[in-house]
Amino acid sequence: MLKIFNTLTKKKEPFKFLYTEIINIYVCGVTVYDLCHIGHARTFLVFDIIIRYLEHIGYKIFYVRNITDIDDKIIYKANNQKESINLFVDRMIKLMHEDFLRLNLKIPDYEPRVTEYMIDIISSINILLKKEYAYIKNNGDVLFSINKYKNYGFLSHRLKNYGSNNPASCCSVDFNHSNDFVLWKSHTNNSDPFWKTPWGPGRPGWHIECSAIINKFFKNRVNIHGGGIDLLFPHHENEIAQLKSLNRSFSVPFWIHVGMVVIDNQKMSKSLSNTVFIRDLLEKYDSEIIRYYILLTHYRHPLSFTEKKLYLSKNILTKIYTSLLNCTMVCSIPDDYEIKTRNLFKNQFYAAMNDDFNTPKVCLLLQKLSKYINKIKQKNILLSNVLAQDLIYFGNILGLLYQDPKQFLFPNHKQHKIDIFIIKKLVHMRHIYRLDKKWHLADIIRKKLLTLGVVIEDNRINSTYTFTKK
Ligand SMILES: [Zn+2]
Repeated sequence: MLKIFNTLTKKKEPFKFLYTEIINIYVCGVTVYDLCHIGHARTFLVFDIIIRYLEHIGYKIFYVRNITDIDDKIIYKANNQKESINLFVDRMIKLMHEDFLRLNLKIPDYEPRVTEYMIDIISSINILLKKEYAYIKNNGDVLFSINKYKNYGFLSHRLKNYGSNNPASCCSVDFNHSNDFVLWKSHTNNSDPFWKTPWGPGRPGWHIECSAIINKFFKNRVNIHGGGIDLLFPHHENEIAQLKSLNRSFSVPFWIHVGMVVIDNQKMSKSLSNTVFIRDLLEKYDSEIIRYYILLTHYRHPLSFTEKKLYLSKNILTKIYTSLLNCTMVCSIPDDYEIKTRNLFKNQFYAAMNDDFNTPKVCLLLQKLSKYINKIKQKNILLSNVLAQDLIYFGNILGLLYQDPKQFLFPNHKQHKIDIFIIKKLVHMRHIYRLDKKWHLADIIRKKLLTLGVVIEDNRINSTYTFTKK
């Protein structure tokens, strides 16, 4: 059974939900004031893997990731560049989508932009004011009173005297009035955007955006709430305080946090000019190499970014793809064919993934399997072909090994250039087959597209496709 480390309890817990229920997942998205960097890539790639795996083992997912499109940094940046905030934000979101598409990230079912949910945010603050969880300051700001919410600090294990109920609690903090946080910033600067409310014009604080959006999209529960570990406190602590104050029965059984990315043991920051942008990496490396590189470190550990390790990932993936070279598809393999050898790898794969998504172990397994294929290629062609298929199958679960080996190994070879016209034709044909409910034919086209390095994603509205290669 799948076990996931839950930040709430600091324990690996069984993921016990029934396969018949929809798993609600909310991940805090990007504040779009700059290009996306390797930290974003890691966080969203980890949730991409988690969602892929949950879907693989049979769950249906409902995934929402917000976009913060109003914020001090956004206003500053747009003003600085003499660009309207709307145009600036639209441009940044477009660039973010380009990066995420090239990273082959799963597209959320909904990607709400904060400014489009202002009515919900204002109504949430209104409820908090009415329930006296919030108060208006003299300057017109609205603050959340953390003393009114008795479990404040529970999620991030900072709650005083909670030891007996919360054995994972490591530190006690005395929270007081000075920790009250902003729900609404009153309008002070004439040139800043603002929204009208019964308590005065202004704009929302960051934390209430997520709570209001979660409340809007999910009824009473988010099964998994995720984000970078830097969001645990105060952002997620504030989010859950607001959510519970708005709706006492709201529950978030699993909190998953992704470790930080550090550059030469330092946090990425503007002042150090050490930010590594996704699009710069994609200029130099295939998106699968970046994916493999991120999977080599367990998602909860800090990831120390070095180009040396990226080269290492490139070498490993090159070896794996080389082992797949000249392997051919074997149709109708008997179920019990070499079952012992195949199960050995299969069991290890699922054991590692079920152990809190232990992708470093899975990466080692893929390498081991690839070496084994090389070893037996001369002696047993059939088995090597079957194991190559298994290797691709495991890789695909993680969003890897989608390409034709020749395409990965010799990307500049003319013969392997993707003809965009053919791709569009195939995508269109598949769409027609799907409309006609000819699933088998649609699936044949999907597989064909995969060999061309094109990944098809079906969301609730339509199908989109992304290139795993530029
Ligand atoms: Zn959030």
